[in-house]
Amino acid sequence: MKKAAFPGSFDPPTLGHINIIQRASLIFDELLVIVAENRSKKYLFSGSERMDLVTSLIKPWKNVSAALCTGLIVDFVREREIPILLRGVRGEGDFSYEFELSMMNKALNPGIETVFMTTDPEYFVLRSSSIKELASFGGDVSAMVPEAVSSALKTKFFG
Ligand code: ADP
Repeated sequence: MKKAAFPGSFDPPTLGHINIIQRASLIFDELLVIVAENRSKKYLFSGSERMDLVTSLIKPWKNVSAALCTGLIVDFVREREIPILLRGVRGEGDFSYEFELSMMNKALNPGIETVFMTTDPEYFVLRSSSIKELASFGGDVSAMVPEAVSSALKTKFFG
């Protein structure tokens, strides 16, 4: 049984995240999407809002589930006996950050392997932070995020 976890903020989930989830669901027997709640980060969507969005978006895949994590990811996966952390990379910038993060996680828990999956080209430019900014100005983000996220963004910014 190959189990992996895909941790992230998912604030909000984008088509780039969904692409990674879809492709990873074919590689791993089980994939747990971990919605991280980090006290030092400021989110647009609350932990439970992000969990609700992710939970509804992963419905097409029977081997994908979601969980909210308020502590350290490495401890969370160790408790669940998940040995692989999956991270998506869009380019060099992502890679150097992700590389350092993986070294830190390795130091915290040597039993965990980080696996990187490169983005598919059409999702290369998708970034939650720029999508939020665009949506805050009323821009059309419908080609970048699932429908449910697009309407959640509209509600968040314009009621
Ligand atoms: P974090 O705050 O942990 O970086 P994100 O929600 O921004 O959380 O991202 C979660 C994971 O998804 C990260 O590994 C990130 O690199 C990856 N990711 C985000 N957007 C894309 C994309 N468009 N293509 C591929 N991977 C992506």
